[in-house]
Amino acid sequence: MNTQGSYLAFGAPDFTEAEIDAVARVMRSGWVGMGQETIAFEQELSAYFDAPEVVTVNSCTSALFLSLLIEGVGPGDEVIAPSLTWCATANAALYLGATPVFCDVDPKSMCMTPDRIVEKLTARTKVVVVVHYGGYAIDVDALRAALPPHVIIVEDAAHALGSRYPDGRPVGSSKNLVCFSFYANKNLSTADGGAIALFDRHKAEHLRSLRMSGMESNAWSRYTNPSTAFGAGVEKLGYKMNFTDLQAAIGRVQLQRQREMSNHRLAVARRYQRGCADAGLSIPFQEGVFDVRHARHLLVGVFDPEFTNMDRNDLLLALRARNVGASIHYRPLHEQSLYNNTRGVCSLPVTESLATKIMTLPISAKMSFADVDYVVQQLKQLLETAKAAP
Ligand SMILES: *Cc1c(COP(=O)(O)O)cnc(C)c1O
Repeated sequence: MNTQGSYLAFGAPDFTEAEIDAVARVMRSGWVGMGQETIAFEQELSAYFDAPEVVTVNSCTSALFLSLLIEGVGPGDEVIAPSLTWCATANAALYLGATPVFCDVDPKSMCMTPDRIVEKLTARTKVVVVVHYGGYAIDVDALRAALPPHVIIVEDAAHALGSRYPDGRPVGSSKNLVCFSFYANKNLSTADGGAIALFDRHKAEHLRSLRMSGMESNAWSRYTNPSTAFGAGVEKLGYKMNFTDLQAAIGRVQLQRQREMSNHRLAVARRYQRGCADAGLSIPFQEGVFDVRHARHLLVGVFDPEFTNMDRNDLLLALRARNVGASIHYRPLHEQSLYNNTRGVCSLPVTESLATKIMTLPISAKMSFADVDYVVQQLKQLLETAKAAP
């Protein structure tokens, strides 16, 4: 990527020759489905997340769906979730006939807080799906303490691979069902894929069966253990949501490179913060303090409308015309038709206000500092020009 005319996508994946070699190695081995490479990746993720069980699946969408399924979510149940998130967070409830109940967020972290969640509790609340927005790890222990014991916490950690809870432990180690995404633009990418980190061995076995058509053993174990060759039974209605060894080959290399990639993201974020300090775009969380707590999956700035008379959407389009892949995360779910557009009705004032002021700027593990400077320069130029206009 460079500033000379190429488009700076937000969230470009960072693959090296090592990932390419790993895929070739697995292809040449003759076994590309779910097998020993996936098992090794799950074990390595387990060490990284500090969680005894990790179950890989084909996406974080599937991870969220299966998590709610094994927690018994069904029709009549309510699932509390933020509105400022990707649709998969709330769709997990819809797949199961449950009702998403949208909750407002804190203006700085852009995450739900225990106080706001507690306000949304009813007798029907079954699960709270928390989102570590942008990569900011929320305090799930404080949330646990604020909730009645029967309300289950599921974590949508699609942004938070590499983030740490306030006590310094890695996201994934909380004993909740913690769902990760390995989609193309996420912190660790296998093109597509996901995983659930958990502590309960029985739930993990249940998830392993559900992801693989409800089989009590998988193809790899039948292949390697002849005594089960004819004995694999289908015990329940499962799904086809498994991972593959091709993806695991990529993931294992990405995991090895995670520290280096994460450090670079943090450095890019710090450079943006310094660059934008006087530009009318504030990037929450100061340098140093939240470095570990915020893995900087998304580089989200909050645009100050007082600073200029330029409309946020115009600014976004103007940046795109200058090869800067600025974007918005997210259009609030409660304002969309699938969720019965309840804008102004369901009282999410912070979400509704942020929705008009946020802007995501390009960040990736391979973005050069020159590219960061280019983005900041374009942003400043556009805002200055707008300010000068009558
Ligand atoms: C990307 C994302 C998902 C879905 O991940 P997939 O692996 O693409 O299914 C879920 N939640 C959030 C917050 C995301 O950003």
